[in-house]
Amino acid sequence: MSRIVHLNGAWVAEAEAKVSVFDRGFLFADAIYEVTAVIGGKLIDYAGHVARLKRSLDALGIPAPVSDETLLSLHREIMARNDLTEGLIYLQISRGAEDRDFLFSSDLAPTFVMFTQKKPVLGNPKWESGISVITWPEGRWVNRQIKTVQLLYSSLAKMEAKKAGADDVFLVEDGLVTEASSANAHIVTAGGVLVTRPLSNALLHGITRGSVLDLAARAGLAVEERAFSPEEAKGAAEAFITSASAFVMPVVAIDGKPVGDGRPGPVSRRLREIYIEDRLASAI
Ligand code: PLP
Repeated sequence: MSRIVHLNGAWVAEAEAKVSVFDRGFLFADAIYEVTAVIGGKLIDYAGHVARLKRSLDALGIPAPVSDETLLSLHREIMARNDLTEGLIYLQISRGAEDRDFLFSSDLAPTFVMFTQKKPVLGNPKWESGISVITWPEGRWVNRQIKTVQLLYSSLAKMEAKKAGADDVFLVEDGLVTEASSANAHIVTAGGVLVTRPLSNALLHGITRGSVLDLAARAGLAVEERAFSPEEAKGAAEAFITSASAFVMPVVAIDGKPVGDGRPGPVSRRLREIYIEDRLASAI
């Protein structure tokens, strides 16, 4: 079934949706995006995603194309138009189109696109087995806290992981893990402490990361925000990643070495359960 996408205020069949070749998103990756999970026809962690969307727009000086009220109603409408009960909603906002030049005008009309992906978010089969990662040099630009569409480095790195027979990468900078290709990275020490890198421009400020840290603290788990090395991760009791699409996903091998006993560990499992329970209850 062909999707209906949202493009600059109109609902359009996906094959008919066209963006200018002079769009700065295409020419300069001058665009930001957001991804929100949908379960049971409801939006998971929506407030956090909208707040980060605004931070990304502010950071690049791109005006918000619609009001908060309109944005929420567009999310509801795109679910209804595409019969989406479980999956993801992507939205992409570029600075707009004008003749190619590094300098840009201050009054461009942003290009605003929304589309859906139907996929089993809750029934992800990888949860049972966990995923494997390889370590890979960090090579992205320095402002990784902005959710821009500059995803080429992460995409190429993930292809390298696939070539090596793994599922993802742990990106490493100055001997420390920044994050995975499209998720935040965490470990659990032998003493049961959840260790995660503190927020900075080195990593995207994951909405799922924030929620999981809150829930972990509420569940009485000790949380330490500090960077960790690949060696520490390899020797940890557990490792896992978090993202809007994977929620809490156990990492069971790093560079071919099992983490813990090589199976999803109890803390990752528990956090996944708590996250799902809490976020389904607060979904809108
Ligand atoms: N880090 C990167 C680089 C990402 O691309 C993503 C999600 O796309 C995340 C972390 C996780 O963020 P969130 O939990 O908001 O999906």
